[in-house]
Amino acid sequence: MSSILVILSVQDGRVKRSSLEALSRASALGKAEKREVIGVVLHSNALSLAIDAVHYGATKVFCVSNRIFDSHLNPPLIAGIASVVELVKPRLVVAASTESVKDIIGALAIRMDAAALPDVASFEISGDHVLCERPVMAAKMMASTQSSNPLVFVSLRSGSYEAIRSESETSCEIVEVPFEFDVSTLSATLREIVTTTGEAVDLTEAKVVVAAGRGVKDATGKALIDELASITGAAIGASRAVVETGLFPATAQIGQTGKVVSPELYFAIGISGAIQHVAGMSNSRIIVAINKDADAPIFDVATYGLVGDCFKILPILNAELKKILS
Ligand SMILES: Cc1cc2nc3c(=O)[nH]c(=O)nc-3n(C[C@H](O)[C@H](O)[C@H](O)COP(=O)(O)OP(=O)(O)OC[C@H]3O[C@@H](n4cnc5c(N)ncnc54)[C@H](O)[C@@H]3O)c2cc1C
Repeated sequence: MSSILVILSVQDGRVKRSSLEALSRASALGKAEKREVIGVVLHSNALSLAIDAVHYGATKVFCVSNRIFDSHLNPPLIAGIASVVELVKPRLVVAASTESVKDIIGALAIRMDAAALPDVASFEISGDHVLCERPVMAAKMMASTQSSNPLVFVSLRSGSYEAIRSESETSCEIVEVPFEFDVSTLSATLREIVTTTGEAVDLTEAKVVVAAGRGVKDATGKALIDELASITGAAIGASRAVVETGLFPATAQIGQTGKVVSPELYFAIGISGAIQHVAGMSNSRIIVAINKDADAPIFDVATYGLVGDCFKILPILNAELKKILS
């Protein structure tokens, strides 16, 4: 039976957690469906990065080594992935729904005469069909989508499945794929990658997120958020309300028109829990909400709720966590 190919995205010298989640899911599906699960890494350091994939169920990893992949550029990435898809001829290509995958999945599907099912929360193969569930209406509802196209591209929302690492020694074949790209054919040149200052932990990959809403109010509230994030090693997120006031940068916004996060622990501080915000954080494993309004909708999704003023609760919480974690 034709295989499942998983694109392994790389960030900061590591395969992204969301890609390992996609690989773990593909591996479970591959076992049930008796399909080979193959990874592909496109990076200057692809060979050493490929090793990790074996622990998440890949039996073969294609390595496309070229420095051009270390910065995101659509044309080489599309060409590199397309060359591996042509070699492998998989039934299904899965990738984590990262910003760069969102950028190329449509173009790849057109180029390869394939179907694209983007930003799904689950996927499976049933007979001739690839079946997916996709959050719609700010994740209020799930739409069932399917395709019987012989080749289907799926991008998977982070946090939809667990990344399951196995320590057992399984054999994994590493295949090097030669790749040349003529940079003179590029119509756009990547001059600079601008990252926000102070974003020590990547929001979309973070295990802990401290998110602030309008209840955080001002610089004093922000300092309490910074302190909690520093104690817990968290990335800082925000609701749109405090991005609009300029208290937090636009890159911190979580939700329908912001980032989608799936940490193990999510602190929602002074956030009401509007559906547009919840759409971006509902995949969090444990949600701790602090809000002075006991009827705030955030408590409908929270695992633990603290009703009260965050300016009174945070200093106590920070002091206690500091004792435990330092
Ligand atoms: C098309 C569209 C897209 C949108 N996309 C997004 C998005 O991506 N992300 C997003 O976040 N929003 C988005 N929004 C906006 C969203 O609808 C809400 O307006 C926004 O999430 C509210 O932010 P908030 O919870 O911080 O503020 P509010 O709704 O004003 O809530 C503030 C909360 O803080 C509590 N509070 C106040 N003072 C304290 C205190 N001292 N201690 C503790 N609690 C306190 C209050 O009880 C209240 O619950 C979108 C809206 C639209 C229409």
